[in-house]
Amino acid sequence: MTHRYPAFDDVIHGLADHLRYLKEQGLDSLRITRKPLIDPSSSDMDTLKETPVISAPSVASPAHEELKRSTLTESDHVPDIEADRAYEFERAVTGVATNGTNDDRELRLAELRNYIGECRRCPLHLQRTRLVFGEGNPAARLMLVGEGPGSEEDRTGRPFIGKAGQLLDRIIAAMGLDRKDVFIGNVVKCRPPGNRDPEPDEIAVCRAFLDAQIDIIRPQILLALGKISGRVLTGIPDATLASLRGVFYQYRQIDLRVTYHPAALLRNPAYRRPVWEDIQTIMARLGLPVPPVKS
Ligand code: SF4
Repeated sequence: MTHRYPAFDDVIHGLADHLRYLKEQGLDSLRITRKPLIDPSSSDMDTLKETPVISAPSVASPAHEELKRSTLTESDHVPDIEADRAYEFERAVTGVATNGTNDDRELRLAELRNYIGECRRCPLHLQRTRLVFGEGNPAARLMLVGEGPGSEEDRTGRPFIGKAGQLLDRIIAAMGLDRKDVFIGNVVKCRPPGNRDPEPDEIAVCRAFLDAQIDIIRPQILLALGKISGRVLTGIPDATLASLRGVFYQYRQIDLRVTYHPAALLRNPAYRRPVWEDIQTIMARLGLPVPPVKS
């Protein structure tokens, strides 16, 4: 199914792109006025017809210089909000934080959350109650990635807190860890209506935020929970969950493992054994004591 973005968003994004282009060309402020730039009834229209069109000049042309002169004043400075937010995103991901170090992951996650805002970048915003950013230890060695929020998560804004989340808590406890030791996120941050799978175009938009979280946290291991998350992170479309299990992959230069989603485990207890095998493998890779296998 293909979704259409709301027309208003198209206009805003188009305007933001155009402002970015003008900024690249050296324009650093714009005059805001209610007066039309060109009065259709005036002789300005004739002037306009004679003025060459300015189309992405690589160097400032005389027409561009004229445009700058006619629009710049010291007192008319308007902050470039889109550029400021892009800067926040860049700073959050690259770690050029206010203290100039890469250490403050918590601050950088907060900057990323601030950048995402009340996101309307994909159609999933239309029916969500709350955006679920993810939570946990900003310096976690293990990061768990589900596919998207369910109804409880949508209501509360927290990841994995329904029945599947309670089972996940028990799995984490079986590793000798606590929820606050790991970071839990999702491929998409808003609930797909009716718990359907997220659409490829929704994933394509939202995964930039997941990638940014991964780049900030830099866990030792990523654990994809379920088929959708496994397919997205391994880059193997249409793979079955069973075929994705059993090996380590690399995602953004981090070890990645795939296992069943806790919700699938609730539906089918036969998945308990393979999940426990996956968890034991991860524990060994993290250097955690692995309990002996009961015979
Ligand atoms: S799913 Fe992601 S991209 Fe879509 S609205 Fe929510 S936060 Fe934005």
